[in-house]
Amino acid sequence: MSTSRLATVRGRALRCLICGDREFRSREVKLNTTGAEFLGLAWANRSALALVCDSCGYAHLFTGKHPEPWDPAQGYPAGTVTD
Ligand SMILES: [Zn+2]
Repeated sequence: MSTSRLATVRGRALRCLICGDREFRSREVKLNTTGAEFLGLAWANRSALALVCDSCGYAHLFTGKHPEPWDPAQGYPAGTVTD
């Protein structure tokens, strides 16, 4: 499991949809389908990036363009409340 990180999506700070926390751990998840498993093509299934909220455990799933890590030392994204 990776360490907790802040993240942005399209330049905006990501906050947990459930509790509003801003720290997440990332992990890759497979998006296997039953049909592909049956045909032995599970290897061809796509994967997604899950950002799991450190506070409540809710998993935010991203496919395609992934969120970017955010280093507060480089400044806060526009529109972010810095409380
Ligand atoms: Zn949360």
